Amino acid sequence: MAEVIKLMSEALANQIAAGEVIQRPASVVKELVENSVDAGADKITVNIKDAGRTLIQVIDNGCGMSEKDALKSFERHATSKIYKTDDLFCIYTKGFRGEALASISSVAEVELKTAQEGDETGTQVIFSGGQFISQSPVSTPKGTNFAVKSLFFNVPARRKFLKADSTEFQHIITEFQRVALTHPMIEFYLYHNSQTVYSLPKATLKQRIIAICGKNLNQDLIPVEIDTSIVKITGFTGKPQSAKKRNDKQYFFVNNRYMKNPYFNKAVLLAYEKLISPDTTPPYFLYFEVDPRTIDVNVHPTKTEINFENASDIFKLVQAGIRETLNKNDVAPAIDFDNAEAASLPYFSKDMEIPEMPKENFNPYYNPFESTRTSYSSGNYQPVQEKHNLENWQKLYETEDTFFVSDKSAVEGEKKIIQVKEKYIVSPIKSGLMIIDQYRAHYRVLYNKYLLQIDNNADSIQKLLYPEKLSLDTLSASMLYDLRDEVLSIGFDLDFTDITLPVLKGIPPYIDKNQAVEVLTDIIENYKEEHGNIKTSIKDIVAKSLARRQAIKAGRQLNVQEMNNLIDDLFATGEPNYSPDGKTAVVILTVEELEKKFL
Ligand code: ADP
Ligand code: MG
Repeated sequence: MAEVIKLMSEALANQIAAGEVIQRPASVVKELVENSVDAGADKITVNIKDAGRTLIQVIDNGCGMSEKDALKSFERHATSKIYKTDDLFCIYTKGFRGEALASISSVAEVELKTAQEGDETGTQVIFSGGQFISQSPVSTPKGTNFAVKSLFFNVPARRKFLKADSTEFQHIITEFQRVALTHPMIEFYLYHNSQTVYSLPKATLKQRIIAICGKNLNQDLIPVEIDTSIVKITGFTGKPQSAKKRNDKQYFFVNNRYMKNPYFNKAVLLAYEKLISPDTTPPYFLYFEVDPRTIDVNVHPTKTEINFENASDIFKLVQAGIRETLNKNDVAPAIDFDNAEAASLPYFSKDMEIPEMPKENFNPYYNPFESTRTSYSSGNYQPVQEKHNLENWQKLYETEDTFFVSDKSAVEGEKKIIQVKEKYIVSPIKSGLMIIDQYRAHYRVLYNKYLLQIDNNADSIQKLLYPEKLSLDTLSASMLYDLRDEVLSIGFDLDFTDITLPVLKGIPPYIDKNQAVEVLTDIIENYKEEHGNIKTSIKDIVAKSLARRQAIKAGRQLNVQEMNNLIDDLFATGEPNYSPDGKTAVVILTVEELEKKFL
């Protein structure tokens, strides 16, 4: 076998030597976890200390190695996964270069413990800076346990080149997620400085995606199944309303490896054309299966780009297949929907050009003579700053006069309005029936209110009499530290004398201390979800966080007055159709649609 390995090394040495495998702690995590997957493990645990500077440990319950192989695995081009060059084009396992362990052990201290099924004792091998240190019997469970300590201890330039812990750890998370997303049937754990970052039980693919990318996606994923002779594509793609600016929940995998593919990304985006605003992109998780001989798995160790023989055909299949998937799920604009413009723009954001508003977007009830309004009976609801375009409203009021015909109470500004299931507000309007989701409507109202307040209070900070120590785990604390300028810009004054123990000294004037802590937590969560790039503006996160928590939820009974006020406030925002998360807040059932139902 040793001879075969040598032969491969000659055939591939030049290609393989092209790059360095280990650039940062995340590369070690990737290599070790992939080896564990290849070893058939169904439970993989990753322990990290100090973003991998101090320790990267990967423990699996896979096949393990014999005493001999344990030693041999550290040799360059030692691999059990490939025996002749032809096999290189038939790669299904993750590893095949046989250089990861050799590389890692040359720049760190590596302690390997491993045992195979039925072994009486396992074996322990220690390498340091490329030098063999020792091998001895050890008692260890079946599987493999790699501990990589003091990474780059003998390459000071490399060590110095490492970025802040939070950045390096984000790279680790990214690699971990990519592997976890391809193996839902493997149990994964990730710990950082003894804190649990991920605990992922065996799951279906959808459950795994949600466990990694957040519960928000639960409602948004549409299953994809495209089966052709050149490629099979499965996975999930997002409903149009889940499209976001700079979405980074976009994953392609080919034969169970993560790949970057800007070309196919274009195909997906084309499938969403006219369904989403051009400055947003949908989340997607697409798994390609192709004959390995039709792709070129670039042998450059760090590259994730892969060349496809049938790229242009696959491009067309992706575009058509995703479009059809969306159509089948009824998310493309329905032909009989008389408000197609709105359907094709599921999210109206502030800086987007809003098309001419369809008539139903105006408050059909607005009474310009009514000036006093009561607040909702509980909660801290306050009327929002009026933004009506009064002329427009009045005109509309006039044109809607048939609705208010000679009904005395209606002239006084009351209208027929009921609450259904303590969730929806339903009311007849001139063109049919208007149904409002009370939570989403109030969320929109409060969100717009808070955006204004944030802008109006840009430079003011309310000093806390008693500064508050924030109890955050180290990762969260270091993330908050990275964001200190952004949060200060909107009124959160933090003291980082001890980076692991931030102290809140001042807060924005329009919230109280408890809210402030909740908002900071939401900011950190968002930052984690965005892989360490604060992609949405901090104002948007804060306004959403405050609004979401305070908005009246489903299950809250509302009286007529409250419902009226909510409707007025909603339409006064000028963006009544959707909640700040892009979910539908108002549905109009037109008379025609009703009539059709009675045919
Ligand atoms: P490659 O994965 O490209 O084969 P590596 O340097 O990553 O090369 O690993 C070398 C060899 O060591 C593997 O081919 C495999 O035989 C063995 N090995 C590495 N990690 C494990 C593990 N976790 N369990 C069992 N065997 C392993
Ligand atoms: Mg490997």
